[in-house]
Amino acid sequence: MTFHPDILCPFCGLGCGDIRIDRDQSGIAPRPSGCPQADRLFRRSMAVPTDARLDGAAIPMDDAIAEAVRLLGSSRAPLIAGLTADVEGVLAALSLAERIGATVDHERSDALFRNMAVLRRFGWSVTTLAELRNRCDLVLVVGPDPAAAFPRLWERWVVPEPAFAGGNGRSVVFLGGEPLPETVRCLGARVETSGLDTGAETDLATLVGRLRTALAGRLAAGDPMAALATRLRSARYAVVVWAAGLFEGPQPDLIVEGLVRLIRTVDGTTRCAGLPLSGADNLIGANQACGWRTGFPLRTGFDGGGPLHDPERFDWHSRLRDADVTLWISAFRPETPPLTTGGSVIMLAPPETIVAPEPVLFIPVGTPGIDHPGDVFRTDGVVALHAGALIDRGLPSVADVIGRMLAAIGQNAETREAAGC
Ligand code: SF4
Repeated sequence: MTFHPDILCPFCGLGCGDIRIDRDQSGIAPRPSGCPQADRLFRRSMAVPTDARLDGAAIPMDDAIAEAVRLLGSSRAPLIAGLTADVEGVLAALSLAERIGATVDHERSDALFRNMAVLRRFGWSVTTLAELRNRCDLVLVVGPDPAAAFPRLWERWVVPEPAFAGGNGRSVVFLGGEPLPETVRCLGARVETSGLDTGAETDLATLVGRLRTALAGRLAAGDPMAALATRLRSARYAVVVWAAGLFEGPQPDLIVEGLVRLIRTVDGTTRCAGLPLSGADNLIGANQACGWRTGFPLRTGFDGGGPLHDPERFDWHSRLRDADVTLWISAFRPETPPLTTGGSVIMLAPPETIVAPEPVLFIPVGTPGIDHPGDVFRTDGVVALHAGALIDRGLPSVADVIGRMLAAIGQNAETREAAGC
């Protein structure tokens, strides 16, 4: 048995670097980390089937690559989605999309585009996790507790005393959502919720609107929302945190818009910034890579030759219905959402993945940070993190598999050219 301390976790985008792993001949297992995602996803067995499958039957990898190329080459409307891979895997997927005229999107891009719709219209002022930890003395959490998706947010970035807050300590106020029991345990006396979410006004957009009204000085002094407005204005550095992917109800971007306007108002009198959290499974890295390569965010298609971006038309949920072939990439988690499509699915995923119905073609791949090294971006988009390898199960990376597909496409093209086709 060997012990590995301080392992980087690539899963939710917080980039915790203190995961402790035990490894023996049977595989790897994490020591309890306080994070249900890490405790589940770092548990990998050496005894996994590493064969590709065609219609459920094992086939050699060379045949799987050839079949993938045949399917994608004959497609009229290919989709490359899921896209949960390290940066190298995403860049390879973008090269393939460009080559075959596919559309690209990330499984979790809903949360990203709820924020980006507002960023495009208004711009925004956002901060980093390091600023949250080191400078912020008042955290305003809007909506559901982000710990549901980012389990160690509070422990890692808010519990440590701020280094530059002038000895004020810090408070965490929840608006329109309750802290999870683990959050209450973790934050203790820092958490405040009382008096803000009453009666019919638990609707998030209404609550944000009411706080903006209070900031404009149009609520009575005894109103709890007026008191919160006063606290925001008197904080040294307030940070408004939200996880748009957890917002429920129609038009979540309107809530984000209200928050962006609110932050702008407070920022006129004291420091205030937003911290929009979205970024599991290298969502932010995939979006960055798409920007470097195409000049556009995710939800970009190459079916017209050059890249074309359309956040509605190229949303994978709707594109999946029209795609005759989908290449679904899911390198981080052995799980996939239901894929409702009349077309064929080629899946690149960890070998532990239980998928029903069985895709036409399944190619097992390794997980970045477990089976091979890889780069992922933190949720605040300012830090690229390098995760190392922990075990060797003979699994290729997404970049390896797609690189082989691209090489085969190139060879086929050369063969056709030589034959005068
Ligand atoms: S909070 Fe996120 S980065 Fe940290 S251990 Fe859990 S899944 Fe990994």
